[in-house]
Amino acid sequence: MTRTTEWAYVALGSNLGDRPGNLAAARKALGALPMTTLAAASRIEETAPLAGMDQPPYLNQMVLLKTALDPHTLLAACQAIELSAGRARGERWAPRTLDLDIVRFGDRHLDQPDLIIPHPELSHRDFWLRELAELQPNEL
Ligand code: AMP
Repeated sequence: MTRTTEWAYVALGSNLGDRPGNLAAARKALGALPMTTLAAASRIEETAPLAGMDQPPYLNQMVLLKTALDPHTLLAACQAIELSAGRARGERWAPRTLDLDIVRFGDRHLDQPDLIIPHPELSHRDFWLRELAELQPNEL
């Protein structure tokens, strides 16, 4: 049986620890997923935390994956990668150092309790819109 491959856009964010290292580890882990290749990565952009949040600034990046995984399998993989980054130093309840969000997945529209696609924050985050525009020409 042949599986269809689709383009998936995943947003990476980190505001704790070795932020560039966390993004690099996430890119590597996403590219190593089964039936998945990392086709392109956007520039890395630093953004301020949301208004009123007493947190350090974020490094953000978006990657374009070509994948035959289904959206829920990709979500589970993203959550596993987040956990492994957040517990990198063996601390059981270490703060999360990596946030992964599925921004778009092909032309799909999902509205489920655990997965909304396109991501509902997409139209509110200018940096996601910029990163998406930067990556879209790679959809060949
Ligand atoms: P966050 O706090 O941003 O890491 O949000 C994580 C929660 O958002 C998880 O429980 C996911 O099930 C849910 N979620 C819903 N839609 C998405 C999406 N498109 N990408 C990632 N997580 C999502």
